[in-house]
Amino acid sequence: MPWDFDNPDKCAKAKRKVQLEKPKLLIGSPMCTAFSQLQALSKDKGNIERKKLLLVRAIKHIRFCVSLYWEQIKNGRYSLHEHPASANSWKLPEIIQLLTYPGVVKVVGHLCAYGMKSTDDQGEGLVKKPTGWMTNSPYIAEQVSALCSNRWKGQMHRHVRLISGRAKAAKVYPPKLCKAILIGLRYQFIADGLMAPGEIGTVCCEEPIITDEVKEEVWGQIQRSYYDSADGNTYYDDITGELLDSDLVNEATQEEMDTYKSHGVYRRVPIAECFEKTGKKPTKVRWVIVNKGDSENPEYRARLVAKEIKMDQRLDLFAATPPLEAKQFLFSLAVSLRAKTGKPYKVLFIDIKRAYFHAKCIRDVYVDLPEQDQQEGMCGKLEKAMYGTRDAAQNWEREYESAFINLGFQQGKSSPCLFYHPDKDLRVVVHGDDFTFLGDDSNLKWITEELKKVYGQSALRSRAVR
Ligand SMILES: [Zn+2]
Repeated sequence: MPWDFDNPDKCAKAKRKVQLEKPKLLIGSPMCTAFSQLQALSKDKGNIERKKLLLVRAIKHIRFCVSLYWEQIKNGRYSLHEHPASANSWKLPEIIQLLTYPGVVKVVGHLCAYGMKSTDDQGEGLVKKPTGWMTNSPYIAEQVSALCSNRWKGQMHRHVRLISGRAKAAKVYPPKLCKAILIGLRYQFIADGLMAPGEIGTVCCEEPIITDEVKEEVWGQIQRSYYDSADGNTYYDDITGELLDSDLVNEATQEEMDTYKSHGVYRRVPIAECFEKTGKKPTKVRWVIVNKGDSENPEYRARLVAKEIKMDQRLDLFAATPPLEAKQFLFSLAVSLRAKTGKPYKVLFIDIKRAYFHAKCIRDVYVDLPEQDQQEGMCGKLEKAMYGTRDAAQNWEREYESAFINLGFQQGKSSPCLFYHPDKDLRVVVHGDDFTFLGDDSNLKWITEELKKVYGQSALRSRAVR
């Protein structure tokens, strides 16, 4: 049952419900007929007064919805607003004001990408219905912004045009869209620490588990401009939207630039080379700045990421993640068996700091130079896998794969993320930059030393259990 926000009692009731139930996500889909271009085009039955009235009502509905979105955002929760992408409602001052709030973004998605269907005289077909979404969750924004595959594959499917009675049917979200919103919300929960990576909860677990890297990638893909203020010196926290201290920001960005230099992530080349090799401008970069501490004990972290936007599914750029059972199996072995040496098994966790920077960049990827390292007419050619590039995870996969094979490991047949060392009786499950090893003490010591040789002493963080 839709809420009739013409009725002040219903408004009050909805507001109370939100305040009482504190929903993590509030989805607003206010009536749009008065705004939609469809309406503007269909030369109505001449009833201008009726149209005006509808418009006034529609604006009232949106204003009320926006007041609920503020309620959500101010209380650290999420909202998702949906309206036709081309509707004039996006120009309402209330909407514009909300969009200037740090962290609130607008994206567009095509509903054919989510399987929305309708029927016309040619039969059943997909409905494009470009839809605008406004949300303060970057993960949901990422999920609802899929575009029509015709854009890059040519005319693969036809579109049923939404006219007359068919517009109404298109108000029901297709299941794939509902799922996309839930997946986005789940990523958001993981990012917020409300769900631990690997926890399945009530949703399916087929998506890769969110790591810091993926998080940065997601942030990198969403165009936001609020941090580019006029003086170029005002920064807002990328997660909380708080104003950041510019001295600490400069310190953090300098540290990141030092890391870039020490790993030789890119080398400066003329922009002309980029055009020659790729026919395109260099990929844009952006800073992701987060205060991992709090206002009393600030701990700023700055990451420079590429904004290589994912427009299609490229299976050749795929990187594998291990099945959840792999680690469970490792832990099960740890408690039920002894090593071949007769000594007890132990589990060792090692993660590689800035793992991607240890991986060679294989494609020709050119990026803009950050403002800290500008030089006229020059850009950066990637030597290492930069966070935010599409094949970074895959390049890292190649890197650790060859490292383990060089050390005498055999790669798993069912999953490329599993390795076994027959002589050392060592097992490892790799998940992004996390290695989980199973072996006896001496062999775990051996692998730690070997990995230090490969990635450097300071790149390793390790923790042993049992
Ligand atoms: Zn389409």
